[in-house]
Amino acid sequence: MTNYAKRIDKIVSTEILVVGAGSAGCNAAIASAREGRKTMLVERYGFVGGTSTYILDTFYGFYLPGKEGRKVVGGIPDLILDKLKQRGAMLLRPNTYGAGTGITYDPETLKVVYEELLTESKVDILLHSFVVDVLKEGNRITGVIVVNKSGFLKIEADIVIDASGDADIVALAGLPFDGIGSHEPVQSLTTTFRLCNVDNEKAKTFTKNQMWAWMKEANASGKYWLPREEGSVHITTLPGVMATNMVRLSLPDPTDIVELSKAEILGRRQALEYFRFMKDYLPGYENAGFLNFSTQIGVRETRRIFGEYTLTREDVLSARKFDDAVVECGAPIEDHNQTSSTVWAYLPEGETYQVPYRSLIPKDSENLLVAGRCLSATHDAHASVRSMGQCMAMGQAAGTAASLAFTQKKAPKDIDIKQLQKTLVANGAILNLRQEEPV
Ligand SMILES: Cc1cc2nc3c(=O)[nH]c(=O)nc-3n(C[C@H](O)[C@H](O)[C@H](O)COP(=O)(O)OP(=O)(O)OC[C@H]3O[C@@H](n4cnc5c(N)ncnc54)[C@H](O)[C@@H]3O)c2cc1C
Repeated sequence: MTNYAKRIDKIVSTEILVVGAGSAGCNAAIASAREGRKTMLVERYGFVGGTSTYILDTFYGFYLPGKEGRKVVGGIPDLILDKLKQRGAMLLRPNTYGAGTGITYDPETLKVVYEELLTESKVDILLHSFVVDVLKEGNRITGVIVVNKSGFLKIEADIVIDASGDADIVALAGLPFDGIGSHEPVQSLTTTFRLCNVDNEKAKTFTKNQMWAWMKEANASGKYWLPREEGSVHITTLPGVMATNMVRLSLPDPTDIVELSKAEILGRRQALEYFRFMKDYLPGYENAGFLNFSTQIGVRETRRIFGEYTLTREDVLSARKFDDAVVECGAPIEDHNQTSSTVWAYLPEGETYQVPYRSLIPKDSENLLVAGRCLSATHDAHASVRSMGQCMAMGQAAGTAASLAFTQKKAPKDIDIKQLQKTLVANGAILNLRQEEPV
């Protein structure tokens, strides 16, 4: 606890506090509030959705890759899909390869869909608010300090869910973490961008491999700077609008803000280079206009907590099941490492591994959970489990668990797991649980 305490202008209290309104945080807050808990959601930007609304437009992880393409995420995430569908703001991009079928949505509509669900669930939403410190008594987090234009606010909470992506609360609480600073470099960063006025029909006349060959050719000509000679461009819910995932930048620590600032600038420069290439080389893009950069550069990986269990590459590739499973995942390991190509490794066809609840509980914590990309997983396992479908499912699990911990007056690590799983399944979550042994 630092000297912020001297400057506190206001104190509020809540039962469950969720920090970060991305895929994990929004689902955690909705789950907790729907279980009847007084829930507050704090977000540094002026809108919700996190990476799903400020960088991306396609949920992966809902469907398995492979012939069967089974759906493995449900519950609150389905309510989100229903609302997107009702507004005509969603389409399926069937895929048996890559990360499986993607659900492409309009990110602006998704902001409103989340706002509606959060409001209907009676979540207290605090936007434009950055959590800068935590208050602790022993291993217990008693609250956080938030800074915003109104001043310094203290939020007291019974249970805190760190859904900041970067495990900010874990770091501020002085708990150890992996990821940045460990022996393996974190995944690369990408500024996404969207183009308008593309001729959709003409754009169908070339393959991804052809585009990659043209990228190589353009680089070899010495007239272009395309650090990643692959990447993708895809249709969106809007005619003539295409979205890309092409830019690649490497940083040893994306939480180093000086370096991140440089990366933002370089990322936009790189994006404009790819745009120039696309206009010059790709059929259908001759008259394309540059619509927008992502609100900020996309950060795939930073801090990963040390949890009660750490998910591993072997767990992923052997489709391992756990007694305390709370999420199913069949997404391959998709490592956008810091070289020019992405490395893929698949689970056996049609299978899933499970995320154990323990991966959401930071070691040595009493009333803290995490959800989303900062869970406890090795670099490789993280490269599979970080898809938005799984982040949403982790959020649902953490929000439900926090509510149970509150009502059972227990630490999150001591709650009744069977009760948690029962509640999740009753609320639509997809979990293939082992049958109870007959007594
Ligand atoms: C370039 C890129 C491409 C990707 N492509 C795909 C894809 O196509 N499909 C897919 O499914 N997944 C994709 N992923 C992965 C996926 O998007 C992320 O793993 C996932 O969105 C993470 O969700 P989250 O809720 O954990 O974190 P985030 O969505 O990052 O949410 C964290 C939230 O916390 C807020 N926050 C952070 N710190 C604080 C603080 N101190 N105080 C207050 N608020 C704070 C942030 O503003 C943000 O809203 C991609 C990721 C990147 C970067």
